[in-house]
Amino acid sequence: MVSRVIPVEPFDLVIFGGTGDLARRKILPGLYRRFLAGQMPAEARIIGAARSEMSDDDYRASIRAAIGEFVAKPKQDAATIAAFLERLRYVAIDATGDAGWDRLQEITRKDVIQAFYFSVAPTLFGPLAERLHQKGIACETCRIVVEKPFGRDLASARALNATLAEHFHERQIYRIDHYLGKETVQNLMAVRFGNILFEPLWNAQYVDHIQITVAETVGVGGRGAYYDKAGAMRDMVQNHLMQLLCLIAMEPPARFDPDAVRDEKVKVIRALDPVAPEEIVRGQYQANGREPGYREDAENPESLTESFVALRLHVSNWRWKGTPFYLRTGKKLKARTSEIAVVFKDPPHSIFGPQENRRGNVLAIKLQPNEGMTLRVTIKEPGPGGMRLVEVPLDMSFAEALGPNGTDIPDAYERLVMDVIRGNQTLFMRGDEVEAAWAWADPVIAGWEERGDRPFPYDPGSSGPEEAQILMHRDGRRWREIRE
Ligand code: NAD
Repeated sequence: MVSRVIPVEPFDLVIFGGTGDLARRKILPGLYRRFLAGQMPAEARIIGAARSEMSDDDYRASIRAAIGEFVAKPKQDAATIAAFLERLRYVAIDATGDAGWDRLQEITRKDVIQAFYFSVAPTLFGPLAERLHQKGIACETCRIVVEKPFGRDLASARALNATLAEHFHERQIYRIDHYLGKETVQNLMAVRFGNILFEPLWNAQYVDHIQITVAETVGVGGRGAYYDKAGAMRDMVQNHLMQLLCLIAMEPPARFDPDAVRDEKVKVIRALDPVAPEEIVRGQYQANGREPGYREDAENPESLTESFVALRLHVSNWRWKGTPFYLRTGKKLKARTSEIAVVFKDPPHSIFGPQENRRGNVLAIKLQPNEGMTLRVTIKEPGPGGMRLVEVPLDMSFAEALGPNGTDIPDAYERLVMDVIRGNQTLFMRGDEVEAAWAWADPVIAGWEERGDRPFPYDPGSSGPEEAQILMHRDGRRWREIRE
């Protein structure tokens, strides 16, 4: 199977924060891979814009090093890297002052697609939008890409939306949630809406419950100061897990176009019931003698911030009434994995008599580390001795089914940046969507703050606090094991 690469139109992509961690680790290596794939036209230009003073050549050298570090070795081709670096420019700029803006104005071209990636601290999103406008650089067709976090509550998200809307139309604003750029997340839509097989069963009548797990093995590391003010709910649930829930729960859009898809996602968020206190478990990893605990990592000995959260949610609409959605995410857990599991009900009657340890059908959609899907089906255990049933995975690994192209899955950022250039907003969050997610999250957070809830301790390398297991056991269910 040969993959089709359709080159995009010529563009100028300005990366504010072009020397930062995200730019070096994800955005520029991703752009290099697209260049290598032949998707970038000769006239494309990438302009790094950041605070430090440096020449174009210094910038190219630093990006050459980033490619060396963050692009897989077989994809590092010296001649291609040199040709890619030719496309790079650098402008030293102050997002909150005047320095550098005239130069940026001078070098950006008006006759190509213009995109401005805000890969800087969120406090600079507003000032950048204002400056682009004041300095006459922004135009009616240019695009801005806004990183996470998009606000820390409804009020701040609304304020940021309002500032951006003063200078840009909604069709120009691309709010990144890199989970939406993952191949499997898009495959979720392909599987749901491209097959007749699943959708008739995709409702409360046949689905017992849904589990969404995003588990990390790392702690808060160097991000302690930011994370301690956010916590797992703001950092992960309000955005990434909520987006996954929307794609699982939404009604089929009439068309695969940005507004049709996003209209359906917003409806899901608005259908969420308030979360009762007993439906939330917050956790914090504790020191275990070998590794520091969250409070040491965050350098806040009194911190009540959660590094783990598990929730039971209800989508109150005709399709989902009665099917709970269990979400959990945390740091310092036993494995790095992201997975959505649709757990189906048992058949209404077992013609084979009572069967021990039946686990039923599960569609497991794995987002990382290895993207793919498995459908657990029941078959007869081989051999004589009666009809004993056993569950086996029907494996839809991309690698096997699609050959070499199945393993060559573009990184989320890589795809999303190309979508910006193509002008396709389907995989980006709309302003009302972000606000709806905060409107749901705010009272949940306010609830535990008012009650003064303390997070439950858990051991690094575990599956989170025991109380999270109890959240499921109470309902006669259990979490799937956290494993790669
Ligand atoms: P970083 O601190 O590594 O880099 C910040 C960049 O901003 C640097 O290039 C710096 O020169 C530039 N900068 C700072 N002040 C400036 C100013 N006044 N004018 C112009 N440029 C200025 O940050 P990062 O980790 O790359 O994160 C960038 C954004 O991406 C943040 O919004 C962050 O929340 C988001 N993000 C980062 C990651 C990640 O893995 N690093 C993941 C998800 C989201």
